[in-house]
Amino acid sequence: METVRCNICGGNEFEEALLTKDFEIITTKGSLNIDVRNVVCKTCGLVFQNPRFDEDEAKFFYTNQFRDEINSNDKVNGAWIRIQQKDFLINNLPAGRIGRILDIGCYEGYFLHLLENMGWEPYGIEPSVSSVKIARERYGLEVFCGIFEESNFMEEFFDVISIRNVLEHIRDPKYFLQLACSKLKPFGYLFIEVPNLYKPFTTDLNDFFSFQHLYHFSPVTLRNLLDKVGFKIIYQEECSYPALRILATKDENVPGIRYENDYAAAVEIIRRYQVNRVENIELINSRIRQFATRLSNKKVLLYGAGFNTEFLLNNCDLTELDIVGLSDKNGEKHGQTIFGYKVYRPDEVINLEIGAVIISSYKFQEEIYDEILFYEDYGIHVIKLYDNVIWLESVK
Ligand SMILES: [Zn+2]
Repeated sequence: METVRCNICGGNEFEEALLTKDFEIITTKGSLNIDVRNVVCKTCGLVFQNPRFDEDEAKFFYTNQFRDEINSNDKVNGAWIRIQQKDFLINNLPAGRIGRILDIGCYEGYFLHLLENMGWEPYGIEPSVSSVKIARERYGLEVFCGIFEESNFMEEFFDVISIRNVLEHIRDPKYFLQLACSKLKPFGYLFIEVPNLYKPFTTDLNDFFSFQHLYHFSPVTLRNLLDKVGFKIIYQEECSYPALRILATKDENVPGIRYENDYAAAVEIIRRYQVNRVENIELINSRIRQFATRLSNKKVLLYGAGFNTEFLLNNCDLTELDIVGLSDKNGEKHGQTIFGYKVYRPDEVINLEIGAVIISSYKFQEEIYDEILFYEDYGIHVIKLYDNVIWLESVK
């Protein structure tokens, strides 16, 4: 682990804001346990993990993590989000503006594909080999497989650089944005989307304050960072999910030293988040008790062998359920023992003598539900755990 200073102001005085003790991280080479510790900078209010994985530890995790299963060949993952993002960009750029766009973290390339169809010249960067393959084969896109810091684009080459849900994972966001700034033409545009600290969602605790998120930006701390690097925000909006979108322009006249201290707001939102989290755990516990009563001693399987299940097993009371195993689409997990349970293939489930499958996935609950609803034909109830999610109101 390594200890770092505040990436925005260089400050070295922090308050511990959120601690998840003994968090178990599963990799293909076994699991590791860490305390995930988030602090608030007293000088500027930036919330970030400190200490955090050092570079070697991070590399070990990212090299050996279970890869998300790529879905079917013709299905576009998260298409509606990419369409929203494309609309945000196009609607807020000056009318008729068109040119070269670099999408950092382009995933399977659908966002770039939408822009190419409108006449943009698309370039992508993506570290996942399987995603790059899809971007190239499905859309014929030019994608650099790797990370931005190792790419080799010319200075002042792009009209727009987009960084969608990437910045929170970056070890040195200030340097990253300085680099982006240098690759943009004068008065080029920067489009950023990040999870919004002022609007965390709560039943997916491991996702918002996940150890993979090194930084938790708010509208204020993100503005502080952009000021520092030389970008002026021209438009921002909150997403329908808990994230924040910003369009900024490269502007040498930005003061570069102005900080609004977000400390008080950050501490308050995290305090409310923790209260809300306790309420949500109680909600899930009461739901599990209802299932247990209805199932009366029938055996149960949890569908999903990822972070949601880790959260569930660590934080909730499942003692009244007779859990016999897990199932997951990810072939790398089949036959393994994860969290102490055997992981079955989805097609094996109908042969197990169980009464119900509980879907333990927050993000993909609906997709999984559609895929496994046929279990009902075999007398196995398919149960959703995460309906009626409670959302926090914004603090500002
Ligand atoms: Zn700071």
